Amino acid sequence: MTLVLKTLQECGSLNNKAVLLRVDLNVPMHHGRVEDATRIEKLKPTFDYLLDQGAKIIVVSHFGRPKGEFDRDLSLAPIADVLADVLNHEVKFAVDCIGDAAKEAVDGLESGDILLLENVRFHGGEKANDPEFSKELASYADVFVNDTFSCSHRAHASIVGVAEHLPSAAGLLLQEEISSIESVLDNPKTPMTVITGGAKVSTKLALLQNLMKKADHLVIGGAMANTFLKAKGHPIGVSLYEPELVDKAREILEQSKKCDCNIILPSQVVVASKLEQRAENSICDVDDVPNDGMILDIGPMAVQAIEAVLASSSTVVWNGPMGAFEYKPFDAASVAIARSIAYLTGKGKITSLAGGGDVVATIKSSGLAAHFSYISTAGGAFLEWLEGKELPGVAVLVSKEGADAKKVVNS
Ligand code: ADP
Ligand code: MG
Repeated sequence: MTLVLKTLQECGSLNNKAVLLRVDLNVPMHHGRVEDATRIEKLKPTFDYLLDQGAKIIVVSHFGRPKGEFDRDLSLAPIADVLADVLNHEVKFAVDCIGDAAKEAVDGLESGDILLLENVRFHGGEKANDPEFSKELASYADVFVNDTFSCSHRAHASIVGVAEHLPSAAGLLLQEEISSIESVLDNPKTPMTVITGGAKVSTKLALLQNLMKKADHLVIGGAMANTFLKAKGHPIGVSLYEPELVDKAREILEQSKKCDCNIILPSQVVVASKLEQRAENSICDVDDVPNDGMILDIGPMAVQAIEAVLASSSTVVWNGPMGAFEYKPFDAASVAIARSIAYLTGKGKITSLAGGGDVVATIKSSGLAAHFSYISTAGGAFLEWLEGKELPGVAVLVSKEGADAKKVVNS
């Protein structure tokens, strides 16, 4: 099923209209300076469209995790300047997102102005999706535009609540992110290989169960694989694993046979006696892990087996690193796999999609991000999408127009 979301164009003329634009301004900061403005740069097309229309743009975002009250360290004030630099346009700032300060700032707006409201999570009403809070936020605008996929799994006031009060549409970035992910997951070109890894089976259980139905091959690496190795009776020494999920792992292995999905577990691993940088390590077969050994990465033979599967695949989806990549050399398998995927994508042999906080960090640090078909930086939202869940922030933007609207979006 292809989702059809209400588009900016469907909002009609926005000249002199106040648009409440929900974005994600959670850029990495260090000592009060923005380290990477990529997330803001990606918002430019939506801003350009709204400016071109002559709208008054009221920008709303959260920043960090304040406890429902003002927290100077989490103010969006410094981000206003960064936004202004990226857009090459003045950005006004309101010291509160509701109340007199917000109202006064909004009242002073003219066509083509941009106003950034202070961190919306300084009010508990945001996370509680409080109806009064939503109503007040919505009262400043004529139209609501959501341009943040990364926050759309949260039923918060500035994502879901306001949409009940205003005509709403998806921004260009949100549209792009969803169509990029959907184009891979919806009727993927087969064979499809899904690579999963990371710390815990428990956080990826729903993903495994959903993607097992779609994938021809399901690679399991990272500490997650340890629980599966344990379930199959292999010795895992003192490796990180989830004892309470061993039975579940066994069940997943059984289920995979029914849906004709080939689960690939590592046949060879890298072990060390402690988790630290440059820890002394050795490579061994999964049946030879010593009692005091800790599996920290999958071995080169396991990587080769995965590479062979990738070479015969048409679609690859990756979530979760193959090892404890923060500690070198236990990033080796993840980097090797990132290289293979980048190479095959470059050759036009596969369509590749990767997402999740840590796996994206691995891919970026090896300089390979541009060689993937699509990389999603939306951690939680991307995961829930892979789980096949409906995201509340996206659900409120679904167009009821049906087939005609579909044509508009796809044209
Ligand atoms: P993502 O953010 O890509 O979804 P996760 O958050 O699920 O990934 O997992 C990433 C974490 O898993 C990293 O901190 C990494 O060190 C850890 N990890 C992966 N493999 C192992 C392992 N074999 N032993 C210990 N930690 C591991
Ligand atoms: Mg993570």
